[in-house]
Amino acid sequence: MANKNIVIIGAGYAGVNAAKKLAKKFKKDDSVSITLIDRHSYHTMMTELHEVATHRVEPDAIQFDLRRLFNRTKVNLVTDNVTHVDHNSKTVQTENGEYQYDYLILGMGAEPNDFKIPGVKEHAFTLWSMEDALKLRKQIEDIVAKAAIEHDPEKRRAMLTFVVCGSGFTGIELVGELVEWKERLAKNNKIDPDEITLYVVEAATTILNMLEEREAKKAEAYLNKKGVKILKDSPIVEVRENEVVIMNKQTIPTYTLAWTAGIQGNTDVEEYGMEEAHARRLKVNQYMESEQYEGVYVVGDLAYFEEQPGEPTPQIVEAAEQTGATAAKNIIAEIKNEEKTAYEGKYHGIMVSIGARYGVANLMGIHLSGWFAIFVKHLVNLFYLFTIRSGYYMVKYVQHEFFQTRDKRNVFRDLLTRYGNVLWSLPLRIFVGGFWLVEGGSKLWGSRNLAKGNLKYW
Ligand SMILES: Cc1cc2nc3c(=O)[nH]c(=O)nc-3n(C[C@H](O)[C@H](O)[C@H](O)COP(=O)(O)OP(=O)(O)OC[C@H]3O[C@@H](n4cnc5c(N)ncnc54)[C@H](O)[C@@H]3O)c2cc1C
Repeated sequence: MANKNIVIIGAGYAGVNAAKKLAKKFKKDDSVSITLIDRHSYHTMMTELHEVATHRVEPDAIQFDLRRLFNRTKVNLVTDNVTHVDHNSKTVQTENGEYQYDYLILGMGAEPNDFKIPGVKEHAFTLWSMEDALKLRKQIEDIVAKAAIEHDPEKRRAMLTFVVCGSGFTGIELVGELVEWKERLAKNNKIDPDEITLYVVEAATTILNMLEEREAKKAEAYLNKKGVKILKDSPIVEVRENEVVIMNKQTIPTYTLAWTAGIQGNTDVEEYGMEEAHARRLKVNQYMESEQYEGVYVVGDLAYFEEQPGEPTPQIVEAAEQTGATAAKNIIAEIKNEEKTAYEGKYHGIMVSIGARYGVANLMGIHLSGWFAIFVKHLVNLFYLFTIRSGYYMVKYVQHEFFQTRDKRNVFRDLLTRYGNVLWSLPLRIFVGGFWLVEGGSKLWGSRNLAKGNLKYW
């Protein structure tokens, strides 16, 4: 068999899954090479970016070193920015090199869509990469610190107003974290937490539209109870440096607008000459293969395939993993001259965290809410790490999410955290310590002597 080069661009959920499957299949086949290119040297657990943006966890809690994930596999890792794909010469060009391919998988994900609304690009903050999360976190920390020494009441109020545009999982998960973080921000800057105002501004008439009404209503009631102002049926039409303008002419003075209103396919691929479908996603057939270019597959958020007429694969983790697996299977089939397999999406539901201790979820028709939904979300994340074969990161996840949190931002509040109040465990520690002392003493001196306090015959 002639040598075959498989190149995968993007180490997101889709790219990593495809690379793992291909590496396993061709483990002992030297005629096949696999190269995975990403601009980062790590895989990002995108679904937890809001935790970094609001300082619940540090970046390393959701960054997984690709070298560790592909340790002892044949995958060649390249950290570089892909600039072009030339379909004629079958070459991927990066800022620093060129890679020949026989089979190519594009898994470069999505990016925020500003819907060409004036001022969004210039003034809004997005949340679709680690860089975005850190930029937003810095903005919030800096503006609260500045507001604390601002004496003009109007300016101070605007500085302490945070607006999240969009009520999908990204927006609601972000505002849910802000509800919890605002106490710490206020304490650190010696201001009253009630001075911090949080808004969710949504163009539709309901929030969390990918969930059933029942869960969406629970989420809304929870946010209302926490003082979040939810404006529905309120499309933002313009963003200025210090205010947002809503269609009904209402303005909200703010210096921090988080834009989570929608996404589109990664525009880095616009030079690759591939057919775009809705929201700049790239059109593929049921094998996740481009209809224009043989051997070119598209997976994850970037791929557009209608499972039912008018219903494309959802832009969620499960679809990313499954489209990645389909592309890998079909490349294997091409190399081995076997029949290809059509994509069949199997989705188990959606989980939305609203802070560290409350969430709503619909899993295979089972409706969950409260802390239990969050607990299940943690289990699902751990299962994801298990599927990508990373025991190391499973342990790290538990450490970061349960033992290294502050301010009760933990599903177990401060019961487990090493920074929390662990006084509750004192009686247990005294009991266990005493028990060991008695046991140890009885081994050294004999239980009768110890009981009598009579050690002179020892
Ligand atoms: C805050 C937030 C919360 C979310 N919550 C959920 C949730 O609860 N449930 C759910 O199912 N989904 C959720 N999602 C959506 C989910 O994260 C995406 O559907 C998923 O990440 C898509 O995976 P992907 O592999 O297609 O792309 P990504 O995970 O986006 O990966 C794309 C990769 O391509 C790389 N890349 C891009 N361009 C280039 C280039 N030019 N050169 C080199 N590398 C490049 C990037 O660095 C990145 O590693 C959430 C997303 C966000 C941001």
